[in-house]
Amino acid sequence: MEKYLADAVKRNVLPITSRCNVRCLFCSHTGNPLEVNTVSFPHLPFAKINEFLPFLDPGKKIVLGESATIINEGEPLFHPDFKKILLKIRELFPKTPLSITTNGLLLTREMVDFLTSLGEVELVISVNALTPAKRKLIFGFYSDIYPNLYYLSGKIPFTASFVFMPHVVGYEEYVLSIKKLMQLGVEAVRVFLPGFTEKNKQLINAPRDLEKLSQKLFAEFLEERTPVIIEPKRLTDFRAEVLGVTPGGMAYFLKKKDIILKINGQPPFSRMEAHKLLNTPGEKLLEIFRQGELLTFNFSLKPGQKAGAVFYRDIEKERLLGIISKVEKALAKSPLILTSYLATTLIKKGLQKLGANYLVLPVKSRFFGGNIGCAGLLTVEDYLWAVTKVLKVRKPDYLLLPGISFDDRGRDLTGRSYLEIEDYFKIKTEIF
Ligand code: SF4
Repeated sequence: MEKYLADAVKRNVLPITSRCNVRCLFCSHTGNPLEVNTVSFPHLPFAKINEFLPFLDPGKKIVLGESATIINEGEPLFHPDFKKILLKIRELFPKTPLSITTNGLLLTREMVDFLTSLGEVELVISVNALTPAKRKLIFGFYSDIYPNLYYLSGKIPFTASFVFMPHVVGYEEYVLSIKKLMQLGVEAVRVFLPGFTEKNKQLINAPRDLEKLSQKLFAEFLEERTPVIIEPKRLTDFRAEVLGVTPGGMAYFLKKKDIILKINGQPPFSRMEAHKLLNTPGEKLLEIFRQGELLTFNFSLKPGQKAGAVFYRDIEKERLLGIISKVEKALAKSPLILTSYLATTLIKKGLQKLGANYLVLPVKSRFFGGNIGCAGLLTVEDYLWAVTKVLKVRKPDYLLLPGISFDDRGRDLTGRSYLEIEDYFKIKTEIF
């Protein structure tokens, strides 16, 4: 367990418990095939957590309650020493921002006051529904977190998340809940289309038109500036289209669906680059495209201020250049880049933008099955299947796989190393 904790801490994620005070209908912890090496542990003793604290990076946000490795994350506020842990973090890292993901059930007024006193805390609250009777359908019991959210509004910045289950709680519940949250000043709303594996397909029972309904939900809030982010999203281009602006953001003049064409005369390579350029302090001249019109705006950002514009996360130019450099170093004549269905087009187009025409193919998640489409859940077994299929029509001389499928030791979620693929096909294999 220690090595998984160390892996998480390297990413500035501090796991403190796998225990949770609820059992959500869609909790991913129940959907894993038996072969998956997930790690669950009870509340970690304070002394053990204390050993890992000095390894956190004070220059980066410290995250609690998010999965970063194969450790199953529980509810951090459920840990009996939660306050003691946070006080220790503050003692060691007085100014480092803290992000805490919680289901909100234990966010009492007293807890809100405590978190406020720490400073530099932001919350990611898995709301899922606000109406108590609807929440019962997800959590199995009545609960009302609205009074606590009302109390924390204006004291601690928070983002709300929903797993989109209109077939369980009704579509209108999302509209009502998001409206109420926007009145409370929520920073952004994230709506996740439920991911399901073959094993929990029946449990989730997602209807076919879920994606269409999620777009309808996005459209309901088109005139509101607060970002509504529907995920996962299969991106097919690098257009820096704005999803919204967080309250207090200096780029408040931007509207949803605006496209950033140039920042100080420079077209951003990607959404990520647009985000970075917008948040760099200094004077800015923006050229944007809004509903058929070209518009320009000036704005200035001081250190510590945020532009607030939110975009989907695409891919950085540096990462694509990294792929090209690996292929060139390997002197590959017919490289094959494998990735998830969600990222294939983006990586292919990004490489083309940089003049590299490589074969990029999607890998289906056979291991998890269901609708799993992200590279983080692809396994060696999936890659073996994909390459076997490709070999029927062509013979690549180099394979490049996304590093996100593997841990620091190059092992997938089932503990198999990507080097097995190289051994099996006798084709040089690396990760990016
Ligand atoms: S709050 Fe998170 S960890 Fe707890 S049951 Fe729900 S999804 Fe699982």
